[in-house]
Amino acid sequence: MSSDVYDLTIIGAGPSGLFATFYAGLRQMKTKLIDALEQPGGQVAVLYPEKYIYDVPGYSKILAKELVKGLVEQAFQYKPTVVLGERVTSLRKNDGVFELVTDRGTKHLSKAVLVAAGVGAFSPNKLEAQGAADYEGKGVYYFVKDKSIFKDKSLLIVGGGDSAVDWALNIKDTAKKITLVHRRDVFRAHEGSVAELMKSNVEVKLFYEVKSVSGDGAKVTQAVIFDNRSKAETTLDVDAILVNIGFRADLGPIKDWGLQIDGREIRANGRMETNIPGVYVAGDIAGPHDGVKLNLIATGYAQAALAVNVAKAFVDPNSKIFPGHSSEMKK
Ligand SMILES: Cc1cc2nc3c(=O)[nH]c(=O)nc-3n(C[C@H](O)[C@H](O)[C@H](O)COP(=O)(O)OP(=O)(O)OC[C@H]3O[C@@H](n4cnc5c(N)ncnc54)[C@H](O)[C@@H]3O)c2cc1C
Repeated sequence: MSSDVYDLTIIGAGPSGLFATFYAGLRQMKTKLIDALEQPGGQVAVLYPEKYIYDVPGYSKILAKELVKGLVEQAFQYKPTVVLGERVTSLRKNDGVFELVTDRGTKHLSKAVLVAAGVGAFSPNKLEAQGAADYEGKGVYYFVKDKSIFKDKSLLIVGGGDSAVDWALNIKDTAKKITLVHRRDVFRAHEGSVAELMKSNVEVKLFYEVKSVSGDGAKVTQAVIFDNRSKAETTLDVDAILVNIGFRADLGPIKDWGLQIDGREIRANGRMETNIPGVYVAGDIAGPHDGVKLNLIATGYAQAALAVNVAKAFVDPNSKIFPGHSSEMKK
């Protein structure tokens, strides 16, 4: 139990939650940021870290992972409390203070809450091949935090979407050898990336799936793949397997917090207030009443700024909503 009462607790460290964290710091709010993932950045960090983004204000183009780096640096300058790897499972009010409980059983107390949970908590679709679960973290990976772990390794990549293809292209000069297996002959990835993949040194095996994964107990050493048309099997010597077969995003417990929800959106007014006083929303999860729904980073930024400044006046009624111009603030 964390007994400190925070001014604002932000659920979700995607672009909206990170920018909100910065703004709350600027407004001198005692701020906590919680995310179910082990890393900040939300969809940008998990789904397309190696892609360029062209519609973020201030950049004609920026690599997604560089944007996350900048957002984190900006957000963390006011030293918020950051809790990663915990999914908020319940939210209720007790004696005027919100109590949030996570899947680790931790309680977090806060005067106001901003839900910036995007499309919900992510979990990667798991490889169902025999032995894959035994080698998770021992050569079988679902995320790439640092591609240098594949240096001079024989890598098997599983999948045909943007993540699989982008990682194959990104790691091809780091790994000793890459084999990419995809169960169909049609890719979901961007056409240009697929064309580049086909010209590269990556061995692409279409209509192939993974049957089993094995190793010496401590690390993976082999994978058996099979042609799903002829059922012919091939054994590959591998040092690592990167599985990119999609993610599931699930609003999950958020649906039970008493918020007004329509589909995947939490209803809010133009001040980003929900039906529960003191609970605000921003980003992809927000469904502003009568607003146009645009699930974009820029929209999330604006909603985050609105939500935090309205929350500031809720927590401290002597404060104005308008924060003043940051360019005129002394650092
Ligand atoms: C492939 C792809 C390309 C894109 N390209 C662009 C682009 O070029 N330009 C653009 O503007 N937008 C783009 N987008 C959309 C953009 O990424 C989203 O609009 C943006 O990420 C939304 O940010 P967010 O902070 O609202 O939510 P998210 O990025 O979804 O972050 C939400 C965070 O909340 C966490 N969370 C959820 N539930 C809980 C819980 N109960 N407890 C704790 N944590 C929780 C999640 O783990 C996640 O980290 C793209 C999206 C995709 C999928």
